[in-house]
Amino acid sequence: MPWKHPTRTKQLNGIGINKSCNQLTLLSNYSLEIRNNKEYIDSLIKCCIPNTENFERIPDPDEDDWLGCRNPKDQSFSRYVTGRGRRISPSSKRKIIYLLPIAESISKENIDKFPPFEALQSMVASFFCVETIIMHPVTFDSFDHLKEISTRKCHEEGERWKQYHAGHILKCLKKIRPKDAFTLCAFTMNDLYKNSFNYLFGLASPSGVGVFSFFRQDASCVACELYTGHDDPKSLLRRASATLCHEIGHTFGLTHCTYFKCLMQGAMCLVEAESRGHQLCPVCMRKLTWSINKHPIERYNALFKHFCKYPEVYMDPLTWVLNRAEVVGFKLTSNVDTDDNNNNNNQKKKAVVFDNDNNNEAIIQIKKVTAKTRLIVREEANKTSKLVREIAKGEEVSILYPVDIKRTKSGSVRVPLCTSGEWITAVTKTGKNLITNVNDVLKESKKDLQQKGTNSNQFAPQLKRHLSDEGKKLVAKALHNTLRWK
Ligand SMILES: [Zn+2]
Ligand SMILES: [Zn+2]
Repeated sequence: MPWKHPTRTKQLNGIGINKSCNQLTLLSNYSLEIRNNKEYIDSLIKCCIPNTENFERIPDPDEDDWLGCRNPKDQSFSRYVTGRGRRISPSSKRKIIYLLPIAESISKENIDKFPPFEALQSMVASFFCVETIIMHPVTFDSFDHLKEISTRKCHEEGERWKQYHAGHILKCLKKIRPKDAFTLCAFTMNDLYKNSFNYLFGLASPSGVGVFSFFRQDASCVACELYTGHDDPKSLLRRASATLCHEIGHTFGLTHCTYFKCLMQGAMCLVEAESRGHQLCPVCMRKLTWSINKHPIERYNALFKHFCKYPEVYMDPLTWVLNRAEVVGFKLTSNVDTDDNNNNNNQKKKAVVFDNDNNNEAIIQIKKVTAKTRLIVREEANKTSKLVREIAKGEEVSILYPVDIKRTKSGSVRVPLCTSGEWITAVTKTGKNLITNVNDVLKESKKDLQQKGTNSNQFAPQLKRHLSDEGKKLVAKALHNTLRWK
């Protein structure tokens, strides 16, 4: 059966709002604190009203448009929230969106092809109101030790280029996914493929990893549907922002939207994707803000702040948010988003940094190091955990940097290996642990904690986060004694 436009009743049911638009359904799924906050609920209702100034109907689909050739299942707020429709929310353990750029090499020329990383990071962070970290760019080759990524040649319009196997990249991403990642989202300016597909815009797995290519969104690339032959950094950033937000939206369990013109609509091609705009309709907006536990206005403010940084790129969405503020009746301010600052502080507390370059704290990189001694890899950080393998002296391993160490009860210190979930430790000539002078570290850290008035019973879990400066130096020294850094 061909797809039919939703009726007004169906749209209202999708949002979970009554006919007179003065009451929301399914409020029992919100916390008691929110339910008792009349002001909050009243303004939430206002944000959920599908006024026609802000929310357009989906244009009539052609037969080769997404809705013309597919008949997707509707995902109402009710379906989403009750878990029948794949609800996924960040948790206290898995709460960070990591963005990982992948290139053929980390040359200036290659990096310059990407939209500015900080702009993509800012877009994703404000769209989802979730802490977003951009990782240091890596090369396709750097995954070789995990899984070789197959390539093949592609040619169009007399030009040839290399394509990379998206499925192989996902396999690698699963292995390096940081423990606290809600999503690890890789992106590249190279072309992707998989099996019988000529090319792919991206591929994601329900386990929270995905890889996306902006290759065919670049107007100077012959394979781009909207090819102009010239670099167009503004449209590239706009397209890349929309792609990332749409795809990351899926990792929150949002399926393709069938209710309004909306960023979460499916698209068969770039032109159709462009026509969706950057906004979420009231159905998808309610799902997302419920999932992240934020008021829609807080999210609009974050987006406003982001769009203001790049007005020439986001003129349409900026105008839309301004208009939205007028219709709903809220004030947009550019300094409300103190979340950014809080997040930065949290990161400072979290990262154990082993060099003096404090500016790099927030960036997690994958570093190749050479073992100076025989290393043991264990499944978990604790001593009794299963031995996975050994790394011979002189062998190269990849580790996450800054190094966020883990102390076991017995006092040894272990370093997380890039392949997430595994830990390295060392066997030295004397059979001692990676950190031979761990007692000194402890002593120094104890002093540090005591000065802060911390109860000594709380030491164990806090030590790995609160090494004193002196303790950090000792750990760093031991790391340098065991691993050769490049
Ligand atoms: Zn999609
Ligand atoms: Zn929608």
